[in-house]
Amino acid sequence: MYVTLKVEVEKCNGCKRCIWSCPDPNVLLYVQEEKQVAVNQHRCKGCGLCVTICPKKALALSDN
Ligand code: SF4
Ligand code: SF4
Repeated sequence: MYVTLKVEVEKCNGCKRCIWSCPDPNVLLYVQEEKQVAVNQHRCKGCGLCVTICPKKALALSDN
């Protein structure tokens, strides 16, 4: 699927709910130094679950 998942770093508080919600492993990764999540774009299938679950509205999908 040709979509890009973006993390708005100024909104993310590192709660990890998006990681728990993602059906696939190693798509959303917790970056300890930044206490935020990063996206492995190559593994994200664009299902949008994490976007829905994020309490800070820090995730967004966009068409490429
Ligand atoms: S659910 Fe949202 S606020 Fe929590 S870690 Fe993921 S992107 Fe950040
Ligand atoms: S859009 Fe779906 S596959 Fe991509 S990171 Fe979020 S939950 Fe995982």
